[in-house]
Amino acid sequence: MRKAFKFRLFTNANQERKLDIALETHRRLYNVYLDYRELAYSMYGVTLSYLDCSRWFKVQRRTNPFFARIDFSSARATMRRLDKAFAAFFRRVKAGKNPGFPRFKGRDHFDSIEFPAYGDGVKRIDGNLRVTNVGLIKVKMHRPIEGQIKTVSLKREAGHWYAVFSCDLGDVKVEPSTHPPVGIDVGLESFFTTSDGDQEPNPRYQKTALPALRRAQRSLSRKRKGGKNRRKSRRKVAKIHARVKRLRREHHHQVSRKLVRRYGLVAVEGLNIQGMLKNDRLARSISDAGWSGFLETLRTKAESAGVAFVEVDARGTSQQCSACGSEVRKGLSVRQHVCPHCGLSLHRDENAARNILARGLLARTGPVGANVGVA
Ligand SMILES: [Zn+2]
Repeated sequence: MRKAFKFRLFTNANQERKLDIALETHRRLYNVYLDYRELAYSMYGVTLSYLDCSRWFKVQRRTNPFFARIDFSSARATMRRLDKAFAAFFRRVKAGKNPGFPRFKGRDHFDSIEFPAYGDGVKRIDGNLRVTNVGLIKVKMHRPIEGQIKTVSLKREAGHWYAVFSCDLGDVKVEPSTHPPVGIDVGLESFFTTSDGDQEPNPRYQKTALPALRRAQRSLSRKRKGGKNRRKSRRKVAKIHARVKRLRREHHHQVSRKLVRRYGLVAVEGLNIQGMLKNDRLARSISDAGWSGFLETLRTKAESAGVAFVEVDARGTSQQCSACGSEVRKGLSVRQHVCPHCGLSLHRDENAARNILARGLLARTGPVGANVGVA
């Protein structure tokens, strides 16, 4: 199992300048490689492979001092990134979807340097981080790293640098548990409802941050393009976004921890959030609640605690009666499930959570679909 650990880097001015230059060099490498591929294709009808570009980069390094200063394996990771973008592009073409050709990356859309093999270009020394051609950077370790570090990426977020360590924790066995199982229904009214009937209230960071964000965005739109004030304003907007993101992540960790401590099996619905976001008027609330990020955090926490995590197909879970199985049709505005067949009456989300739990238990123990989606 993989787990990510993220730490703030405390760079001095010199290190920060070097990191900024390295990031800019990686961005240019990405764009030059894209340009090069496009050119080869439009002029000669040739599709360049990653290997072609890796060779080309090797030659470029001899004459380009910026290319020469970035770590070779991290440069390869940047080239691989573009290769992945192309692979996804061709996949979409094949599937007949809107292809979306890989785009040139502007300064605001390229924010990380990847090191695919720990020890090559980056290394921890006494809790700090040694980065080739940058130096020894002070790291604030607010929690210990677990497992074996596999990859590292350096990330710039709202003017600060972070290191993200991706670690391999090995296989954690799911132990038979004495704790009860639970089904979770994520919703709009509450953040989620459990099959026990507990409702976790919605945190509304974005809503609280919204007035400040609107103000900052308005101020940004008034600033002259390319000016110093515009850059300042943009940084302010990015800062508010980063704060909301941090609060949301903290909340996800906190509620996930609570669930994993209390239960031995967690069943959730496999959500199609992208589809919902497109169709629902309540899109802002949904992305505000950040379900997909929450379920991902919950999965990671469950896996590392040895708690079973089951994803189920949630179609019809809100319409089906959890006591007798009958279909009880109701619109979104009907908040209570009242079954005319067996008389069960409870909150619609609790009913849905009970159905999710039943499906999760079936997937765990039933002969059909056993182990599907089980951590
Ligand atoms: Zn019923």
